[in-house]
Parts: sequence; C-alpha cells; structure tokens
Amino acid sequence: MTGSSGIFDDGIPIVADRQNNVDLHYDALTGLPNRALFYESLRKIIKQAEINQRIISVLFLDIDNFRKINETLGHALGDELLRQFSLRLLECLRIRDMTARLGGDDFACILVTPDGSGDAGVVASKIREALRQPFELQGRPISVTASIGISVYPTDSLDADTLVKNGDTAMHRSKKAGRDTYRFFTSEMNARAIKRLDQENALRKALDRNEFVLHYQPKMELSGGRITGVEALIRWNRPGHGSIAPLEFISSLEQTGLINRVGAWVIDSACRQIAAWRDSGIGEIPISVNVSGRQFSQSTLNGDVIRAIQENDVDPEMLEFELQTERALRENSIDYDLLELELTESSLTAHANKTISILRRLKVLGIQISIDDFGTGYSSLVYLKRFPVDVLKIDRSFIMNVTTNPADAAITTAIIDMAHSLDVKVVAEGVETVEQFDFLRMRGCDEIQGYYLAKPLPANEISELLLGGIKLPKPAQSPLV
Ligand code: C2E
Ligand code: MG
Ligand code: MG
Repeated sequence: MTGSSGIFDDGIPIVADRQNNVDLHYDALTGLPNRALFYESLRKIIKQAEINQRIISVLFLDIDNFRKINETLGHALGDELLRQFSLRLLECLRIRDMTARLGGDDFACILVTPDGSGDAGVVASKIREALRQPFELQGRPISVTASIGISVYPTDSLDADTLVKNGDTAMHRSKKAGRDTYRFFTSEMNARAIKRLDQENALRKALDRNEFVLHYQPKMELSGGRITGVEALIRWNRPGHGSIAPLEFISSLEQTGLINRVGAWVIDSACRQIAAWRDSGIGEIPISVNVSGRQFSQSTLNGDVIRAIQENDVDPEMLEFELQTERALRENSIDYDLLELELTESSLTAHANKTISILRRLKVLGIQISIDDFGTGYSSLVYLKRFPVDVLKIDRSFIMNVTTNPADAAITTAIIDMAHSLDVKVVAEGVETVEQFDFLRMRGCDEIQGYYLAKPLPANEISELLLGGIKLPKPAQSPLV
C-alpha cells in the first residue's frame, strides 16, 4: 500500500488549504511536508490522541553516511537520491501515516496506532528491508542504509518537543550500534526491538547454514485406520536457542520477505522426502505443506522470469511460486497429487482473485489444496465454492472442546456435513483424546491429526512409524491398526 505525505484524521485533511501553504509547509525537493508542518501536525495529532486515547509513534530517520555519498556523487545526484528515498519511504507507510523531510537527510514519520507500539518496529523493519534494493542514479546502483530512532506517545513523553528530542536520542543510539538499524527510546521497548532484530539477522543466515528442519505429523483415515499422509511442520534449530517453533519466527520471515526463499526450501525438502520414502520402499506418502499468503503475493523475480511473464501475459506475482513448486515436483519425479498445499482462510481472502487463479493452475497440475485452521478466520463456506478446495481442516480450537461444549460439537458437525455435501474432505486437527476420536468417527469426519495419533516427528522416526504402524494409546471401539 502506498503511503501519503499528508495526514488525515477520519478522512478530514488536517492541512486543508494545501495550495496556499505549499511554500511554507512543503519541502521543494521532495514535495513532502517540511519541518514546520511536521511540528504543527504532531501537536495536532497529540491533541487528538489525548481525546481518542491513541498511541503515536514517531520515527526519525537519518541516511547513513549521506555526506560522503553526497560529496562523491555531487549535489545533483545527492538530491535525486533524497527524492527517490522519500518515495521509497512512502511505499512503506499506510495512507494514514505522515512522512516529512525535516532538512538535509533527516526524515520523520508519524504513525498513529490504536493499540501497542509494536507497529513502529514493524514499519522500521519494513523500511530497512525496502532499502536493501539499491537506488539507480544515472544508471548506477547506489545502496544506502538508514539509522532510525523511535519515540512513542504517551510512553516516552506527552509533548511534541520531548518526543522529538527522545526520538533523536534513539536515532543516535542506532548510529552507535553500527547504523542500518532502529532503536526505541524506552529501554523495555528497545530490548524487545533488539531481540527481534537479532532474530531477523539470525534468520537471514539460517537457510544457508542449514538450520531449518522439517518434522512430520501423520494423518489417519477414520474409516480404516490407514495413514493417509503427513503434514510438514518447520522447526528452526537456532544455535544457542535450541529448536524454535514456527509461530515464533514465521511472522519475521513474512515481514522480511525471507518467507519466499524459506517457503521454496520447505516445498523442495518435502518433495525430496516424498521421493526418499518412495525410493526406500516405504511407499508413496502424500505430504502437505503450509504456505503463507506472502508466498503468493510477493516474489523476487529474476530477469528470465520477468521476460517470460511479459511474453506470455501472465501474472508476475504468482509465477515464481508456481515455478518453484512445479520444479520441485518435476526434479524429484513425483506424482503431483502427492503434494498438498495448506492455506489459511486469511491468506485466501487477502488476495482473493490472484489466489484463485494460481490455485486453479496448481490444481490443474494435480496438486491438492486444503484450507487450514478452518473456522478461525472469516469462515465462509463460500470459499469452498469459489476456491478449488479438496480438504478442509477444522481448527484445533473446536476439536479441543468438541466433547464438552455443545456449541463446538454443533459447529464441528455442521462443518463436516456441509463440506461433504460440497464433496470436500474433512480433517480434524489437534485430536488428543479417545473421546474426541470417537466423536469425530461417529460424525463421519474423514481423517484426524493430533497428539492422540502422534506428535510431529523427524523424518526417520516417521519412517519407523510408517513401517510399523501406529499404536493408539487406548484402542477405540473397533481395532483400527
Ligand atoms: P498448523 O498448520 O495448523 O499446524 C498444526 C499445529 O498444531 C502444529 O504446530 C502442530 O504441532 C500442532 N498440533 C498438532 N496436533 C496437536 C495436538 O494434538 N495438540 C496440540 N496442542 N497441538 C497440536 P506447530 O508445528 O508449532 O506449527 C504451528 C503453525 O505454524 C502451523 O499451524 C502453521 O500455520 C505454521 N507453520 C508450520 N510450518 C510452516 C511452514 O513450513 N510454512 C509456513 N508458512 N507456516 C508453517
Ligand atoms: Mg497446517
Ligand atoms: Mg492448522
């Protein structure tokens, strides 16, 4: 989404009379609000925040080594860099946020958030990420980084001047920390930010250092007790931190855009595992892989791909993911229906039209599509009609109380019945007890997955399990394995 240089409060421009104020209030070089307008707006926004109990974060940015760049390139190109920098900044912000040029290479952004100030760190990360792409100045690629300081209303101060002063202090801490980073003024927020930055930096190296590993959790057919396949779940063996669960790092991968590379690695590893199980005689075991919405909406494209897109009039944002998936299947000579992609409802709806077209194309190849965590988003059975869905996974939160809470039992039963009437298979997630197992079997649920059967396990342990069969903790009414 593209940001705006003017801030709006519930649709009303604070600076209404823009025409007459251009010289006084806007920077001639970048067209952004200038220092005077920045202060004026900040004071007004603070007043509104007092009434609406909003949280304001102010980001102060300083381009690292700008003076040196300016001297080397000459002032005309230095100006051009500032112009392009300001555009890049706007792309990282939302329409409600404000960006100003305070002078020289100093910029500031005002973010208004209804709750928490975590947003400011996310935006700062986004800006760092956006700067990784070099600028092009007269055909020459120029890379710059920025040091960012963040101060927050009301935590750090209640008045504009102190917020600015604190933000400046935080910015200098970023410089001291080695530039190309951000710091909060408040130490507690800073500690969190540093932890996240450390994690991001470690994640950047994790793939090349082979620190990711896939564990697999089996799924079982309720009618015959057969293991129908496994779900691949990523783990990160971070040196000094042990095995880290996906929920602790997937959002960082998404924010930094690393999810595309890691997601491709997951699909590739899963395909290699399918081939390994097949070649060792264990059998053709379908693997389902979790796909993040970001993998569908953002891809880094190389020149060849871009050319192919232009020549064939295909959607550029989708192609990379499709190519990666197709290549992984082809290189391992795998039947396409052995790979299943799990998408959550929210990732399906985020880019609905684009997602539908890519899913249709993948489905034509034979790849299975499932909706994960069903019931937790804006659940709508309309998806089942619009998207080419094969499987629906009922979220663990319903299964957890399915035998004790009549509402969860009713919802689960309704999902099973409706999915079946649309010819969609149902998998219950997070089955832990024999009571849940029996309930689901009685209601005609197709498959289950959960600790009752097995926890996610490394590939070699799954191999043993596939060879030896699963011993259920307490046999259900009729023996299944
Ligand atoms: P999910 O796809 O819904 O996966 C099921 C999660 O529930 C897994 O957590 C699994 O270990 C856990 N689980 C399974 N059975 C039980 C049970 O009986 N009881 C309880 N309490 N938990 C159970 P995990 O491995 O921590 O993964 C969490 C989420 O992280 C996944 O939810 C998925 O959304 C995401 N994820 C995992 N691997 C990947 C990946 O490779 N790529 C992406 N984009 N997301 C991933
Ligand atoms: Mg899943
Ligand atoms: Mg799930």
